[in-house]
Amino acid sequence: EFAFARRPTFLRVDLDVLLNNLKILKGQLSAHTEIIAVVKANAYGHGGPRVARFLERHGVSHFAVATALEGEELRTAGVHGNIQVFGNASVEEIGTMYENRLIPTIADVDFLSAWLAHWRKRERNTLGVENGPDMVGCVVIKVDSGMSRNGCQPEKLPEIVDFCDNYRVPVHSIMTHFAQSWDDPVFTQQQMDTFMAAVKPYRTRGVKLHVANSGAIVNKVGTDLDFVRPGISMYGQAPDTSEFGVNTSQKLGLRPVISWYAKASMVNRLQPERVVGYDKTYKCNTTETIAVIPVGYADGFLRSYDKLSVQTLDGTQCPLVGRVSMDAITVRLPEEASNARVFQLMTPDYTNVNSAVAMARHERTIPYEVCTNLDKRVPRLYF
Ligand code: PLP
Repeated sequence: EFAFARRPTFLRVDLDVLLNNLKILKGQLSAHTEIIAVVKANAYGHGGPRVARFLERHGVSHFAVATALEGEELRTAGVHGNIQVFGNASVEEIGTMYENRLIPTIADVDFLSAWLAHWRKRERNTLGVENGPDMVGCVVIKVDSGMSRNGCQPEKLPEIVDFCDNYRVPVHSIMTHFAQSWDDPVFTQQQMDTFMAAVKPYRTRGVKLHVANSGAIVNKVGTDLDFVRPGISMYGQAPDTSEFGVNTSQKLGLRPVISWYAKASMVNRLQPERVVGYDKTYKCNTTETIAVIPVGYADGFLRSYDKLSVQTLDGTQCPLVGRVSMDAITVRLPEEASNARVFQLMTPDYTNVNSAVAMARHERTIPYEVCTNLDKRVPRLYF
């Protein structure tokens, strides 16, 4: 009941499980390799500021987000560590990145010129060669090693490094990102080779490198470089709905961090022929017990989940009936669960019909999307 104090629904975020997942992932790494915790998209729905602060207290000092505004949110919440902004850095975000001491991800010299100009202007023109490197905000350079999305082409890397050298923009690190690190070792190795060849000239000067997302960490690719960048596996979700993705996560001992609970706001006994919800898509066959749960697609319980069920705390399935509305769903309580009032909408496992994996399967998507759809208006409770 305490858990429902602020709204009759909450997302349970198990920080012990998060820490345990992190420990498992660290077990894959060389001793010197550090974690960049990927906390973009509100920490994959788990609550960015809270998760980042928790991780920082437990020794993580590097974070990554997708937008400068996400970085600003973390700074406002009191996160002190390095915060990298993934994606090709955009000039529109320079102001926010400057003010919040965020680290842009560089894919071209044009952005770097603008970055340097902004710092010079703000630091009263005293910046540049004569003032040494520490005063310009450092950058991460990203190389596209085959995914053809973000980052510079490998042959452009020397131009970017030269620019940084010439204007003393400190390079935090050079990185790349894999297209299919879970289950395509050949392509992943090709990307790795392309990347390592591109950065070879800079290795002697000790530039730091990172390549590995969760899939690569699990498969021990790039886990001996300076950093790794786990996201989905840190949150204990399987990367996709395949047996392979689920088994691999399970075998390592990873567990989902998040689960979702809600309490009925009303329970009605409806006569046969009564219709339920928008568009009258459901009609009662007999006298039925229909519970209204005040959670809808605006909370991240998507409209297309209308063929799913929720479950009582002892595991009885209660099928959704009628449409998912913006703020409510309606479920039919079977006879044996007619007194149930509290329901689990998402379970912290991989196999249950209410797991994020099952929800993703239903949606023909991946657990990443199920989790990042969880709206901020659902209270997160941290255990
Ligand atoms: N590194 C980069 C550059 C990313 O864009 C992402 C997420 O998309 C990650 C790491 C984390 O990936 P994952 O959640 O698969 O571990």
